[in-house]
Amino acid sequence: MANTREHTFIMVKHDGVQRGLIGEIIRRFENRGFKLVAIKSIQATRAQLEVHYEDHKGKNYFESLLGYGSSGPAIAMVWEGHGVITAGRSILGATDPIKAQPGTIRGDYATAIGRNVVHGSDSEKAAKREIDVWFKPEEILTWHRAGAQHLHDKY
Ligand code: UDP
Ligand code: MG
Repeated sequence: MANTREHTFIMVKHDGVQRGLIGEIIRRFENRGFKLVAIKSIQATRAQLEVHYEDHKGKNYFESLLGYGSSGPAIAMVWEGHGVITAGRSILGATDPIKAQPGTIRGDYATAIGRNVVHGSDSEKAAKREIDVWFKPEEILTWHRAGAQHLHDKY
């Protein structure tokens, strides 16, 4: 059986909220057939962002990540589906929007690396860590999609 319980953490960053892109970002994941299993608005603290972005500690942009990231609300989500971590990264596009392909969220909406509107986990390990930062286990719901057999060939 395929791992249909694969989860990724997707965040509409504060610039994405300011730009009015919450619906657009959700739409792209929904259209692709992924399942939204948790969502909430968050006001990130620097302490939470330090764990979320722990791989970036010591980088010259770390302070601006924490500063801008904690400057206003963001939308935290968990999306579920076979291959959602890898596919989610493709939906987002390259980290640097100047290099992001048109058709990706960043390629269509962003212009600066420090304002690239959306976050997505880059591995299973990162997804687990990030989901644990922003959600309690009971906030991640399980639901069955009617007609799932038409969306997946392995279920
Ligand atoms: N970032 C930045 N300058 C850089 C590299 C990264 O401001 O030179 C920011 C950018 O907003 C990025 C985040 O740090 O989204 C995390 O970096 P990562 O390399 O993990 O990119 P992502 O996984 O978001 O594509
Ligand atoms: Mg990353």
